Amino acid sequence: MIKKMIPEHQAVWNNCLRIIRDNVNEKSFKTWFEPIVPIKLENNVLTIQVPSPFFYEYLEEQYIDLLKKTLRRELGNDAKLEYHIVMDKDSVSESPLTLKLPGKTTSEVKNNPVNVPLSDEKPVINPFAIPGIKKLNIDPHLNPSYSFDNFVEGECNKLARTAGYAIATHSPGSTSFNPFLIYGGNGLGKTHLAQAIGLETKERFPDKTVLYVNANKFQTQYYDSIRTGNVNDFIHFYQMIDVLIIDDIHDLGGKMKTQDIFFHIFNHLHQNGKQIILTSDKAPVDLQGMEQRLLSRFKWGLSADLQTPDFETRVAILQKKIYNDGIQMPQEIIEYLASTIVTNIRELHGALTSIHAHTLLTKKQITLEFAKEIIERLTKHTKKEVSIDYIKKVVCSYYNIHPDTLQQNTRKREIVQARQIAMYFSKNLTKSSLNVIGMQIGGKDHATVLHAYRTVKNLIETDKSFRLQVEEIERKLRI
Ligand code: ADP
Ligand code: MG
Repeated sequence: MIKKMIPEHQAVWNNCLRIIRDNVNEKSFKTWFEPIVPIKLENNVLTIQVPSPFFYEYLEEQYIDLLKKTLRRELGNDAKLEYHIVMDKDSVSESPLTLKLPGKTTSEVKNNPVNVPLSDEKPVINPFAIPGIKKLNIDPHLNPSYSFDNFVEGECNKLARTAGYAIATHSPGSTSFNPFLIYGGNGLGKTHLAQAIGLETKERFPDKTVLYVNANKFQTQYYDSIRTGNVNDFIHFYQMIDVLIIDDIHDLGGKMKTQDIFFHIFNHLHQNGKQIILTSDKAPVDLQGMEQRLLSRFKWGLSADLQTPDFETRVAILQKKIYNDGIQMPQEIIEYLASTIVTNIRELHGALTSIHAHTLLTKKQITLEFAKEIIERLTKHTKKEVSIDYIKKVVCSYYNIHPDTLQQNTRKREIVQARQIAMYFSKNLTKSSLNVIGMQIGGKDHATVLHAYRTVKNLIETDKSFRLQVEEIERKLRI
């Protein structure tokens, strides 16, 4: 029988793997050892390729003893291990890092960044999302309508837009705008702009891994990873991202544990030239409950605010939407809307949609008088506090369930969701405390209400059909 010759380095590494497999659990083996590629064996130095600097650090921290013993068993006491660390194509240096065994030399890495571009096509195992997922396949969670094309430029957003565009069009991470923090009031376009940067990056650099996540979801994922014992996988996942967008960072105020983990991820990404984009409803100096060390890092890059748009920009924003949605609207109505709704672009869009919906429903020719009537009703309802009972009634009638079912102690999905949406609107549209809202909707406590509020907010941002439902309920609440 003819044996197929395999190269010596491969044979040595295969032997090592056999020993390692017996000493670590299946999941760790798959995560940390299967992705390693042996490269060569020269002068008793085995060179292995690892997918990222973090991967290298993790191996050194967790498995150096095992690697040391295994390698010595195979190659004798003077065995050495050398790492090739895969970095981005554009950050290349010539020499690999050699580490003598034994020894933990993580600090050497920081002084000598190691960037040997053997190949960056090797998939990185991503245990955090779906086992075996390829790095390039990570869903960036971007909404295609939040593009730069759809983002109207005005004095109110000039700096933020220009800087954001520069980040996306130059290699992200390589500008001095890192981190890039966009801040401003509700409905002024923070999410839209942050997503536009992600979309444009994907367009120009398809190989870059972009990820959009809001701070609440990040926090939930982190807690889940603690619960299931997967914190390392969670960190590893985030450290693989090239352009990380975290929306509504103010929601981490007071969440010290989450801030701590974010701090470490932030450092890793920043050190490796990855781009971080953040949004917040306040300037960094006004952020409450944030660790000083995080705040000081936010200042490393650029903070740019979004202000309320001026009249011309408001008109342009409406015209863009009219064009995109393919609807008709007389100019005088556009100008009326732009002069009435001044502080929130989301509401400006909402008013336009409302008027359009009314014309479709009533099949009437839209007149300025009619538009005024609708907007007056809209703004009257915005100002007038609606009651929790009213919200329950509207939500239940939308889902075709009896309001009493909200009080039942059931975990039926449909009921739970209706209850969460009712809680969400009660928090948004009434002045009632979380306790009172909880008591009136299902007899729950304030933590349940807060959780419901966050869940709905998350879903609005990530699930289009859910968002449309919520928007429709909101319109019904206001009419
Ligand atoms: P924020 O995150 O600041 O609360 P969003 O990004 O969600 O605000 O924006 C609210 C709505 O207004 C979105 O539908 C968005 O597309 C729209 N919008 C915001 N700024 C602009 C702009 N400059 N041009 C066009 N649409 C905008
Ligand atoms: Mg937002």
